[in-house]
Amino acid sequence: MTEFATEHSTPSLAESVRRVVIVGGGLAGLAAASALAARGMAVTVLESRPRLGGRASSIVDRDTGETIDNCQHVAMGCCTSFRHFCDATGCSDLFETQKELYFVGPPGQTKVVRFAASSLPAPLHLASSFLRMPWFTLGEKRQIAFGLRRLTKARLETDRSFQAWLDEQRQSETVQRRFWHLILVSALSESLDRISFHHARKVFVDGFLSCREGWEVSIPTVPLDDVYETRIAAALRKHGADIRVKSGVRRLVMSGGHVVGVELRDGSEVAGDEFVLAVPQYLVKSMLPDELSEHPGVAALDRLETAPIASVHLWYDQPLTELPHATFVDRLSQWMFNRTVLSSVQPPSCRSPLPLGGEVAVSAAGEGGGEQGCRLQVVISAAHDLSGMSEKEVIAKVDAELREVWPDNHEARLLKGRMITEHRAVFSPLPGVDEIRALQQSPIPNLQLAGDWTRTGWPATMEGAVRSGYLAAENILGRCGAAASVVPSDLPSARLFRWLMS
Ligand SMILES: Cc1cc2nc3c(=O)[nH]c(=O)nc-3n(C[C@H](O)[C@H](O)[C@H](O)COP(=O)(O)OP(=O)(O)OC[C@H]3O[C@@H](n4cnc5c(N)ncnc54)[C@H](O)[C@@H]3O)c2cc1C
Repeated sequence: MTEFATEHSTPSLAESVRRVVIVGGGLAGLAAASALAARGMAVTVLESRPRLGGRASSIVDRDTGETIDNCQHVAMGCCTSFRHFCDATGCSDLFETQKELYFVGPPGQTKVVRFAASSLPAPLHLASSFLRMPWFTLGEKRQIAFGLRRLTKARLETDRSFQAWLDEQRQSETVQRRFWHLILVSALSESLDRISFHHARKVFVDGFLSCREGWEVSIPTVPLDDVYETRIAAALRKHGADIRVKSGVRRLVMSGGHVVGVELRDGSEVAGDEFVLAVPQYLVKSMLPDELSEHPGVAALDRLETAPIASVHLWYDQPLTELPHATFVDRLSQWMFNRTVLSSVQPPSCRSPLPLGGEVAVSAAGEGGGEQGCRLQVVISAAHDLSGMSEKEVIAKVDAELREVWPDNHEARLLKGRMITEHRAVFSPLPGVDEIRALQQSPIPNLQLAGDWTRTGWPATMEGAVRSGYLAAENILGRCGAAASVVPSDLPSARLFRWLMS
């Protein structure tokens, strides 16, 4: 087995190490690049695809010529590292913070409830909005309030499924489905039986209970490509970073227990002093030296399971709703984003219909047209259940659900529907998952691992990805004798929340 160098055998790095090679131009890699380039390191980012952003990216729809995102990406107010990253790379103005959410009641009780914070301190700031939800009986509301209080105080030695904990707290099946599942499926993309207690608690505590702003949702007003390609890449280049797309890396090149370079798929090599491997977990092993695959921290990565997320893009010739977004109770559709209203690049009204002859076009079939209709995007997280449905069936079902919720505009014609499914969208936050997530510091001293799947304490989110990049950067700075804290503080908890916790 190869001997990996230890810290003691590492040459003095304080003065000499400046070249950092980052493999992967997703959020984790870009965040590491931003932190290091801003501190004077010579950073090279190697990304295999033609665009940056990784799983948070855009594609061009062939029919409309429109740039659409693989899926709506939103960040909650508690995502402090992500916010810091946006500020640092000058793209915060491309996001709009929503201080109101809209919850749509279950079939048969369709009513839209505006969800916003009152002037009460956390954790009571959202109570009045919650009490207005008519689809919960008084008894169910009491049950939820009891569950939230227990959750706030709960400390579990051994992780377990959140569903098991809810059953123990006697939360009814309806309350589990319409409340706990509703919030968690969007945040963690799994069903309650596949969510760790610790991850569920984090979502509720950080997002909804500990402070007033944690739950607010930041939504991009432009396609994600504009965020990464236009702004972030430009900001990084301004700091001297060398960003290369279409530069797939085949493997790490080792010498004396250290990484000395990376070999690209075209056979060329890029040398460096410090390295960050910021690719998805299922690709890590293939790039490491064989011997390292047997290391327990690396071998465990095979046990990280993943969950799919589907997004359904629907183009109508007229608006179905003027709401910017809405969350649905008890429907296949989970969260609707009105891209026409949310977008800063087109007016909040419909343009001419697509030239598709009145037929509903599914997927990217048909000839290209230049104009776009009103586009709604519907997210279906934990999309395991869709495996039995065709794309056409999912689109028809989502369209029918939207028309049931907003029946006023019968005239609106669905011009085109398209579903994009990311099969390995996020790792599943199963009980005990944190123990198998790798640390950023790999067993090789000058190699950091980064990615939402590394150990950050966060689920698979943009926040988790950025944190991992920042943590990797902190390790490198520490190794180079320039120790600095990069990860910003969490939002402070409200006094009342702290008192209730005690
Ligand atoms: C459909 C969907 C919806 C989501 N919605 C949200 C949301 O609303 N909010 C939220 O916070 N998070 C959301 N997420 C999760 C979020 O997108 C991810 O957590 C985050 O983008 C992961 O970033 P990363 O850098 O860790 O990994 P990735 O984005 O996977 O980046 C890895 C990069 O490495 C590159 N790469 C791979 N192999 C090589 C190689 N050999 N050489 C060079 N480069 C290589 C890849 O091309 C990729 O760009 C969603 C994810 C998906 C898929």
